[in-house]
Amino acid sequence: MQKSRFHHFFLQQNEFDRFGFDEWVFYPGMLFNDSQKWWAGRDVVRRSPHEGIDFCFYRDSTGLICNLDEKTKIPVLFEGKVVRIHNDFLGKSVYVQHNVHGKQEQSLFTIYGHMTPLSGLAQGDFLQEGDILATVANTRECTKILPHAHITVAWISESFPHEKLNWEAISNPHLATLCNPLEFIDCKFTVEKKKSKRRVFIR
Ligand SMILES: [Zn+2]
Repeated sequence: MQKSRFHHFFLQQNEFDRFGFDEWVFYPGMLFNDSQKWWAGRDVVRRSPHEGIDFCFYRDSTGLICNLDEKTKIPVLFEGKVVRIHNDFLGKSVYVQHNVHGKQEQSLFTIYGHMTPLSGLAQGDFLQEGDILATVANTRECTKILPHAHITVAWISESFPHEKLNWEAISNPHLATLCNPLEFIDCKFTVEKKKSKRRVFIR
């Protein structure tokens, strides 16, 4: 299957190209299946391996590491239907079901965590690839966690009721097969071992 043009739409919609976006930067804990909490102290471990990927930092053309904020718009990876929106501990999670079918009567879902959905976005809405579905939730007021976009890609049983979709269900291997989102997104990125001190916190 063709990779999503998520990154292309992301740059276009957020006009990062004007500010110079070089590449995404990931630290330990941000990637799929990572075990650390990247926002906590060193070696603080997650309850379960990371179910997706966290987009938070990027390097601009001057080499500075910048972070996303609550103005950052998040496009949908593929065309599909919004099937569920629920609260998560930092914002809302939006589940989109795609017309892509896998083995054992599963379909492809993409899930966007820690979001502020666009006003009016509702279950049942159809989206085209690249349509904006949300902005990143503002997490700075109540937590020390920087605003970021969590994205999960999963094959989920078509018979599983949408109203029961939640992070616990997604982590159940009998119901869902989690995938590495970077295998579905065409983008330039780097993985760094330690957080750089040379960072700016707004764009
Ligand atoms: Zn995450």
